[in-house]
Amino acid sequence: MQLTDSVKTVKGVGDKSLSLLEKLNIHTVRDLLRHYPVDYDNFQMPVQINTASEGQTVTVEGAVSRVTTRPTARKKVITCYVSDPSGALKLIWFNQQYLIKILKPGFRFLFRGTVKRDNAEYAILQPKMYQRQEYAKLLGSLQPKYGLTKGITSAFISKAVKQAFSEIKIEDQLPASFRKENNLMKLSDAVKTIHFPKNMDEALEARKRLVFDEFLDFILALRALKTKKEEAVNNFVITDYSACEKLIGGLPFKLTNAQQKTFNDIKKDMSSVRLMSRMVEGDVGSGKTVIAMLAVLSVVQAGYQAAVMVPTEVLAKQHFYDFEEKLGKYGVRTILLVGSMTAAQKRKAYEKVEAHEADVVIGTHALIQEGLQFDNLALAVIDEQHRFGVNQRKALKEKGLHPHVLSMSATPIPRSLSLILYGDMDLSVINEMPAERKPIKNAVVDTGYRPTALNFIRKEVLSGHQAYIICPLVEESEDSDGENVIDYTDNVRDFFASAALKNGDGKLIKTEYLHGRMKPSEKNEIMERFAAGETDVLISTTVIEVGVNVKNATVMMIENSERFGLAQLHQLRGRVGRGTYQSYCIFMKGSEGKDIDDRLNILKNNNDGFKVAEEDLRLRGPGDLFGVRQSGELSWKLADIYADAPLLSLASEYAERIAAES
Ligand code: ADP
Ligand code: MG
Repeated sequence: MQLTDSVKTVKGVGDKSLSLLEKLNIHTVRDLLRHYPVDYDNFQMPVQINTASEGQTVTVEGAVSRVTTRPTARKKVITCYVSDPSGALKLIWFNQQYLIKILKPGFRFLFRGTVKRDNAEYAILQPKMYQRQEYAKLLGSLQPKYGLTKGITSAFISKAVKQAFSEIKIEDQLPASFRKENNLMKLSDAVKTIHFPKNMDEALEARKRLVFDEFLDFILALRALKTKKEEAVNNFVITDYSACEKLIGGLPFKLTNAQQKTFNDIKKDMSSVRLMSRMVEGDVGSGKTVIAMLAVLSVVQAGYQAAVMVPTEVLAKQHFYDFEEKLGKYGVRTILLVGSMTAAQKRKAYEKVEAHEADVVIGTHALIQEGLQFDNLALAVIDEQHRFGVNQRKALKEKGLHPHVLSMSATPIPRSLSLILYGDMDLSVINEMPAERKPIKNAVVDTGYRPTALNFIRKEVLSGHQAYIICPLVEESEDSDGENVIDYTDNVRDFFASAALKNGDGKLIKTEYLHGRMKPSEKNEIMERFAAGETDVLISTTVIEVGVNVKNATVMMIENSERFGLAQLHQLRGRVGRGTYQSYCIFMKGSEGKDIDDRLNILKNNNDGFKVAEEDLRLRGPGDLFGVRQSGELSWKLADIYADAPLLSLASEYAERIAAES
């Protein structure tokens, strides 16, 4: 068996499970082995019921009583109580009617789950059930918990992983001497251990090795991307920036000093004898798009073409309209190229670009497909560059004959790390927000405040604004009690309808929902309706995270905020406060705990992304096993740029060493 073989070659994976695994982005054996656990279940001795406290994951053992079943509109709910000599605890299941047959009063089981408050009493939602013998086998072990989709269990994945291990050999790219010197596990051991550690220390050791490799692979790929010195000659020297000056003069705002400085850097690059390779780093909302526009305008004025690659269709469309509006007046012809276009539409776009009937093409990964060829591409802009792999960035560059490259990112990374990560790129930092911006007002609240928060949103909508509500899940899930977009939307609609009745103002608030499982075209339409102000409240998963710019939106409310990484929450918050209006961000906690408060308070007290990253690291300290995933960041599975900075340096040193030896 090879790592690149289809996951179907693993015994036990059939057609049905294959399609489910594909939903999790598991296609090959390598993908399966790299589907690392998100946490471990630590099977400890059952506890006495009266010692179970809120937020704890526990196992209790006892006899069942008072079994009731109650159908509601959306769910069939079963409740019962489990009692031991110390007390009784409520248990709640949704949509698991088959349990009725098993939960006979007086029968004894072990139940396991996280203790939550259910009105005045404690309860476990969706507890797992075990027979005594079954539990005895698990006792003392760490069982992996995986990211799942409906129809797949952690047990299934763990079995498939074990099966794959029994047939595969994993090569190690590090020599034993280097591993020993730096206390790095063998790769094959690390992969095995991260799935099935004996204890947490072992898991941390395994993680260390895997993080090292993630960094090393990244750095080696970057090295391959690096333009050779002799090729870095500027074929597209741009000296005339008169159109840019006009554009700047005609903007409805004045560039900030940091924007002006960044533009000066770009001018200096593009007019020099060397090719531009510049990274623009600026917090969400600092105004990176207009910088891209200026660079694009300057090359188009000189008779060349430009490409702007962005990670999502929604963003591509938004940029497209923005470019058309602001650059159209200067004779710049912009076209869009995205995956959801028909083959005929795409062909037409290709023709226009090749014939130089279009000056700028804005699009997603569709830009790097084979069909697209330029007449004379002089500038490649990569927005939200951390969303793209090194090879994708390289492919875009190769659409031209050594074009200038302008990369943009909102990920705040300390300068010293940027130097390693972005290698030979020059760096401009936009460390200043437009003066007209009012700082976002933040609140961290528990679900008891939800009605107040929704009424607040309603008030904002009635005064002409819009709001986002983020939920972690798309739909109800069996192994998570987090809020889901679909049910939440129903509830919010009901809430607004009855609020309108109560207040007698009859104002209908228009809500829509959005999630990643929708077709791109459908997502675009929903985003466009929201951008056009036709929808008041958008309930969404984190798909709206990247770059979306709707100035009229003034409230961002994030359900189950405790489940997201701080960097991601900060990105989400960046969707509001993009205009002159006072904006608000409400972090709703789905569970309680001091560490949850500590983390969310960092966001409450800091609107600056660099500060958030710094404080977050201080709080977590290095070596956190999984933390809360810093989702979306630089596409690593385990590595955390902040917490694992020493490993990044080590990987960088090692890369130097092998480069010197070869
Ligand atoms: P990001 O850096 O997150 O990509 P955008 O470029 O989307 O931010 O800019 C956010 C909003 O701020 C846009 O509506 C843009 O027109 C506006 N903007 C950009 N620069 C300025 C400025 N100097 N003053 C006021 N508003 C600005
Ligand atoms: Mg942007």
